[in-house]
Amino acid sequence: MREAGRINAKVLATVNELLKPGVSTADLNAAAEEVLRKYGCVSPFKGYGHPPFPASITVSINQELVHGIPSKYRKLREGDLVSIDCGTVLDGLVADSAFTAGVGEISSEARNLLEVTQGALNAGIEMMRIGYRTGDVSAAIQKYVESRGFFVTREYTGHGVGRQMHEGPQVPNYGKAGTGIPLKAGMTIAIEPMVLGGTAETRVLPDQWTVVSADGSLTAHFEHSIAVTEGDPLLLTVL
Ligand code: MG
Ligand code: MG
Repeated sequence: MREAGRINAKVLATVNELLKPGVSTADLNAAAEEVLRKYGCVSPFKGYGHPPFPASITVSINQELVHGIPSKYRKLREGDLVSIDCGTVLDGLVADSAFTAGVGEISSEARNLLEVTQGALNAGIEMMRIGYRTGDVSAAIQKYVESRGFFVTREYTGHGVGRQMHEGPQVPNYGKAGTGIPLKAGMTIAIEPMVLGGTAETRVLPDQWTVVSADGSLTAHFEHSIAVTEGDPLLLTVL
């Protein structure tokens, strides 16, 4: 999983370099697939769900929270806030991570949202230790986000990851400290704060995939796959 995570990080770094005005979201997907192919890997996103997801990454822009479908007709614009999510399967093991970044100059509101969402991921990771429970991770994320005036989604959650992209336990971005499953060394979980500027409510577009904020406010999403160890949390989805 660490090696799958390293490759996933390379995919995301490659896509990050391409976040410029005029680039289509299909171009981003093609670049991601080129990196995956180089390592003999595939993304578990492709063909996932109903209707089958048609690409290897999701690209979610501005009010789109998660699961945006890449398209050659969809081009990035200066000031956009873009979230990229990708998974990598290597030898039957899955890694899953996501980041959000601006295209060119972004508003101070967008910068603040990025910092809060990344901070929430770090707050969640910090709880990925023996002695804590999944509810401690959830509560840390919720507290970090809501104390800064933003909102967490109730409909989409972090999750166990390993042989499958989505395994138990579910780790929501809200919850109660001291509840949930006790964390044990060797557990691998994808922690993924999905944060909205104006509401926790979302809706799904007619394409049946793209999730947007119900009020059109800006959103951001960061994710790492993390292993609980006897010591510090081990980030699997870094270079
Ligand atoms: Mg993901
Ligand atoms: Mg995930």
